[in-house]
This record gives sequence, C-alpha cells and structure tokens, in this order.
Amino acid sequence: MTATLTPPELQRYARHLILPEVGIAGQERLRGASVLLIGAGGLGSPAALYLAAAGIGRIGIVDDDVVDATNLQRQILHATGDVGRRKADSARERVTAANPHVEVELHPFRLDSSNALEIFSRYDLVVDGSDNFPTRYLVNDAAVLTGRTVVYGSIQRFEGQCSVFGAPGGPCYRCLFADPPPAGLVPSCAEAGVLGVLPGIIGTLQALEVIKQILGIGESLVGRLLLFDALALRFREIQLPRDPACPACGDEPTIDALIDYQDFCGLSGSQENDDSGDTMQDEIPEISVLDLKERLDRGDSITLVDVREPGEWEMGNLADHGAVHIPMGEVPDRADEIDPESEVVVYCRSGARSAQVAGFLLERGYERVHNMEGGILAWSDEIDSSIPKY
Ligand SMILES: [Zn+2]
Repeated sequence: MTATLTPPELQRYARHLILPEVGIAGQERLRGASVLLIGAGGLGSPAALYLAAAGIGRIGIVDDDVVDATNLQRQILHATGDVGRRKADSARERVTAANPHVEVELHPFRLDSSNALEIFSRYDLVVDGSDNFPTRYLVNDAAVLTGRTVVYGSIQRFEGQCSVFGAPGGPCYRCLFADPPPAGLVPSCAEAGVLGVLPGIIGTLQALEVIKQILGIGESLVGRLLLFDALALRFREIQLPRDPACPACGDEPTIDALIDYQDFCGLSGSQENDDSGDTMQDEIPEISVLDLKERLDRGDSITLVDVREPGEWEMGNLADHGAVHIPMGEVPDRADEIDPESEVVVYCRSGARSAQVAGFLLERGYERVHNMEGGILAWSDEIDSSIPKY
C-alpha cells in the first residue's frame, strides 16, 4: 500500500506528479484508495475509466445487469461485441485495458439490504451511478450507517445533478429528499430518454469529486447540489445544508438498519432497473398479447390506446389494429376521445405506465378496461418482431 511507485507508474502518472497538489504523495494516496461503483452504466462508465486512468488502486463494480443494445448510446464501458455479456465483465476488461495497475473487484449481483453494509465497509468511497430510487435510498442509508461518503449523480433527458453526500458534517440524500416521490410519478430513462453525452459529463464530475476527496484538495460539492442543463449549457447550484431532523444523518436518526427499499418506494414485483419508476397495480385487469391478438383477429370491437410518448409511438405501434395515440400526460384532458361504452385496452412499453392509465380510466367510470400485459415489448416478442424493442 505504501510501497513507492514503480518506474512504469512514475512514467504513467507523470502529469499528476508535476502538479504540486498531487505529487508523489498524492499519487500514492490514489493508489492506496478503494472506490466502489454502484452500476456500470451511463454514469459508471466515465467514472470507472477516469478513476482507473488516474490510478485508483482498487475499484469495485456492483452490477447485475447484462449489456443491451440500447445501452451503447451512452454506456461507453461496453462495446457492440459485448451485447449479451455481463456488464461487470466487460467493465473489468475495459478498466484493466486502460490501466493494468488497477485491481478490479466484481460484485455481479444486485445491491440489496442483505449485502450493502458488508460491501460498503470494504471501500473508502462510493460512487452512486444507480438509476432508480430503491437503490439510491439503499446506497444513502448504507453509506450513512458505514460512515462512507457517496458521490451522487443522476441524469434524465437533458438534465443532470451531482453532489457529495455523507461526508463528515455534510448532508445526505435524505436531507434533500427524506422520502421517495410517489411511485410511478417519475419516468425512468427507458421511458423519458437521456441524451447520450449527458452521463459522460455527470459521471466525469463524479470521478473528479472522488479524486478531490482522496487528495483533500479544492472545494468539494459537500453541501451543494450542482444542477446541469445540457440544452442551455448552464450549471446552477443550490445550497444544501445538513438537516438536523434528517431520519438518516440527523441529530436523532431513526434509521438504524437497512429496510426493504422496493417496499419503501412503493414498488413491488419488478426489479428491473429500467422499470424502477413503475408501479404494479394488482387490481388492474390484464390481457395477454396472445389473447388480445386472437380477439382482434376475430373482429372483436376493442379500442386500443397507446399511452407512450410521441417518439416511442413513431418507432412502431399498433395503428394497423386501430390503436389511437394519447400520451400518458394528455390522458386526463383527452379521455373523452375514448368511448366509455367500448372495451378498452391500454398499452405502453412494458405495461407499467398503461397500468396507471387503466387505473385512471377505471376510476373515471370506464367499466371494461384492460392493461396489455408486458406492453409493446411482449407484442414484439410474441406477435410481431418487426416492432422494435427499446
Ligand atoms: Zn441526512
């Protein structure tokens, strides 16, 4: 750990060594440090590459996901040939290729309440690159309980955020948001989209904050939430003091153990990252794509309603079967376009948003409403593969 840098390392880190703020002592601190990355996705990709290049001694990667073609637009740890492989594996290959002096440890499973404390306790710092609320609250609480600092980042559409939580005297994520937003009100990346370069910017800022924390230089984002608007190309920040009444890091904390975060965030069932914002409403009647297709072929009169966003509709839809397009957000104003006497089947990408719309219509007095189980993904799998999956 404290052994002096070898000649190849001295050469590799030369541009660090001539900075008085880093120098040999700083480079040795970087090499002695360990950083845990939550997620090898959009944020984890640039963070992992820059932390490895900078000479962090040990990098842990938690990710249970498999590389999907839709990841490649932003998750630069993974290449076209990696589709179908575990993200943890392709991440290790890229990181090791960038810097063989870095030790990479894989945790190729889902971070949960049973393993988070043990994993966190083995690293100095945590980079939160998760894309869903259950994991974000889990990461926060585990960090507070183990005394670890978390460099937080999040992205959506054209906007990103970054801050440092859990540092001594600084706030935690729960000081900002004590409780999660109502389930289903927050669209996931899969639903809302994200500009490909955005996680590159926010994930790089996270790597920067990690390196500053380790070196003890500069002014950190502790106590400040940085907001980035990619379209306006503007950074703003809001002051974020620690909340003495915070349930996690306050003066009299009420959280003394990890909880069930799926439950806490009002979610159940689906554990898929991309569908984290979804609610599963048990009471909504569902119809399978096979049953629906059979009934459409029989000529049954069914009003099909596609509640996805315009870009999703354009990629492929069921207009040939008479589907009408009313994006979810417009349903309250345009519900009268749907005949209350008719049988209605609502669909979206995966079946989550449409379940909410179906629930809304049922509450409005529509009597025969079904949610298309599995959404357009299921239709593509089982009925018509010419409809693209995304
Ligand atoms: Zn707090």
